[in-house]
Amino acid sequence: MIEITPMISAVRQAVTLCQQVQKRHIATAEKTAADPVTIADYGSQAIICRTIQETCPGHAVMAEESGQQFLDLVADEHRAEVTQLITDVLQTAISEEEVTHWLDYGTDQKSEWMWVIDPIDGTKGFLSQRQYAIAVALMHNRQPVAGVLAAPEYPGGGKIFYCVDNAAFSVPIHGGDPTEIRVSSVIDPAQIRALESFEKSHASFDRMAVVRNNAGLLEENIERMDSQEKYARLANGDAELFLRLPQRNSTRKHSIWDHAAGAVIVEAAGGTVTDVDGSPLNYSEGTTLKNHGVVASNGPLHDQLIDAVQKMMAEEPQS
Ligand code: AMP
Ligand code: MG
Repeated sequence: MIEITPMISAVRQAVTLCQQVQKRHIATAEKTAADPVTIADYGSQAIICRTIQETCPGHAVMAEESGQQFLDLVADEHRAEVTQLITDVLQTAISEEEVTHWLDYGTDQKSEWMWVIDPIDGTKGFLSQRQYAIAVALMHNRQPVAGVLAAPEYPGGGKIFYCVDNAAFSVPIHGGDPTEIRVSSVIDPAQIRALESFEKSHASFDRMAVVRNNAGLLEENIERMDSQEKYARLANGDAELFLRLPQRNSTRKHSIWDHAAGAVIVEAAGGTVTDVDGSPLNYSEGTTLKNHGVVASNGPLHDQLIDAVQKMMAEEPQS
């Protein structure tokens, strides 16, 4: 039995910190911090890792940031600001040494249980005040079994999505009762709402357009947006497809923390998440997926969508 409540609380605290940073450094004409993403990233990760240390010592951690980088790359005044922000959010005095210690907590531990953390996913969206997410997955023997995903800019009000024991829920970001969520049951291609990255450099818009055309999807039903909020939309029944197809010759791998939390929540809500050939996402080693792309859907049309991807790939010049 996995106890997920402490992690939901930690992610909620991390959201508060990120919103403080946005208010202070982004939503103002005055540019005070060199890089608001850096401050929010380290602050968010430290809060999450602190909870892992407190509630499940012994578990391993895979996270995007590290304590060493915090010391080496972050200016003194910004380290002090991270420490102060965490102090404010936790309402407990903490030191810079504690922050550095939490950032690395569990990263050298070996365990069949491993927390995978993206402290701010969709950094470009965070900076531009579009979407961003805070994503935490729990893996058991390298398979995600639970996830917590905050989507502070979710339409209609920020939400935290989570799943545990194969059931998925949402809860308002600053508290309230959880609601069980399910993927949508839309099966008509003309009604499928498709999501893809906002940033052109993150995926091939051209290839995804060909796939949608092959599958009979309508261009007016596409939304471009940042972060794993795309998975949340799918899990919550607010979209039916999230495609992520890299440029044809891209060798860039997908980081595990960019997918584990979102994918496990979509699956728990009844959806399907695979590689471009329909095979499962492969989290088996390292920090990157052994996959070439991601097709996430509400399920009923998944095979047809994979066929549409395969047709697009078969018709590409072979070089
Ligand atoms: P999204 O907001 O869904 O477009 O994706 C955000 C994620 O894309 C980030 O967390 C990065 O790991 C990843 N990313 C950043 N730059 C690139 C790139 N040039 N190609 C592919 N993925 C990228
Ligand atoms: Mg990310």
